[in-house]
Amino acid sequence: MYPKLSVKKGREYQILRGHPWLFSGGISQAPSKVAAGSLVDLIDINGGFIARGYYNPQTDIAVRVLTKDPEQEIDSSFLRARIEAAVQLRNQALDTAATDAYRLIHAEGDFLPGFVVDSYAGTLVVQSHTAGADGLLEMFVEALVDVAKPNAIVIRNDSGGRKREGLEIVAPYVVRGTLPDEVIVRENNLRFGVDVIAGQKTGFFTDQREKRQALQRYCRQLPDDSRMINGFSYTAGFAVYAAAAKPSIRTFNIDESQKALDQARKNFELNQIDPSAHEFISAEAFSWMEQQREQGALYDLVLLDPPAFAKSHKDKPRALKGYTRMNRLGIALTKPGSILVVCSCSGSVTLDEFTGCLRDAAADVSRQVQILEIFQNGPDHPISAAAQEGNYLKVLFCRVS
Ligand code: SAH
Repeated sequence: MYPKLSVKKGREYQILRGHPWLFSGGISQAPSKVAAGSLVDLIDINGGFIARGYYNPQTDIAVRVLTKDPEQEIDSSFLRARIEAAVQLRNQALDTAATDAYRLIHAEGDFLPGFVVDSYAGTLVVQSHTAGADGLLEMFVEALVDVAKPNAIVIRNDSGGRKREGLEIVAPYVVRGTLPDEVIVRENNLRFGVDVIAGQKTGFFTDQREKRQALQRYCRQLPDDSRMINGFSYTAGFAVYAAAAKPSIRTFNIDESQKALDQARKNFELNQIDPSAHEFISAEAFSWMEQQREQGALYDLVLLDPPAFAKSHKDKPRALKGYTRMNRLGIALTKPGSILVVCSCSGSVTLDEFTGCLRDAAADVSRQVQILEIFQNGPDHPISAAAQEGNYLKVLFCRVS
């Protein structure tokens, strides 16, 4: 029924063990004249069925597997079942009474390669990252409507990563329902405005939820009139949590996006915290930190959560230099005995490499750094044990002396 793509001997092994990718080098013979994103059956050299997935002849990851069941058609009931399982997982793992902002579908981590869906108080924001997901998008949206019964669905196919798949960048649009004037979510009972159309990524970073909560423990221990750097603040998620836990804290929110900082102010107000007791600084974070360092400024808490420095493996050496430099500045600006939190969301930088950057940075500035806690993606960003590439986020809570 589906065109057949034969796999080189031995290359089926990881797929049979649950890894959903076939690289282009693993193809023995591909069907000719099939469009990017077409569904295909993978077969072994004897013609035996291995798996069913979608194919893009232009990308290194040539096929992403959807099922290993030869009887399973890729239709709306297939998509509905996968979405139902994802909904069930969120109900199991999250406190949905306190939190209505979370990732509902995490691509390969929910066995739906190419699809990301974030849920914001009943509004769903969908990203399709691959030609195969684009091909299934209409059916996927229908299935989401059936299973999740959202107020509205927004398609955000405006991420630069789509170019690698040969896909167009599409301006965000509402595909179902109507958007409220303002989308306001609750996360651990704190409130945040989310711009689902023009905000970064899908509008909010739900992957930091547990880390924001963990930060509150350290904030409660701080002396009064403490100062916190929230570097790369976006809409000030971490700072709102910090101020909720320690009302006398003064947070310095640094971001190069004025729009993010405007929303950050509103987020303080949404939680009855006076924004005028906080700083919102539109600046390039590295230069701002360098300046602070030259002035000899020291802070009681420093948190740095930059965008991914490595978007792919080839960026890695430069990214590691960037993380080391960032960690160096972070350590230098942390008062002796205080807490530093550093994050990396680069999928290609491993935890070992990131802690290596911390080690090098501490040595460079002759300070001692202890790692207290290590966090990764939260449970709404699940990682398939068979495909641990999904484990992109690393967050280190440290004490600097
Ligand atoms: N910590 C945030 C998420 C940060 S996303 C949260 O919890 O929601 C990364 C942010 O870094 C974005 O808002 C982006 O505008 C900002 N950014 C990227 N490069 C920057 C730079 N060089 N200097 C300052 N901000 C930067």
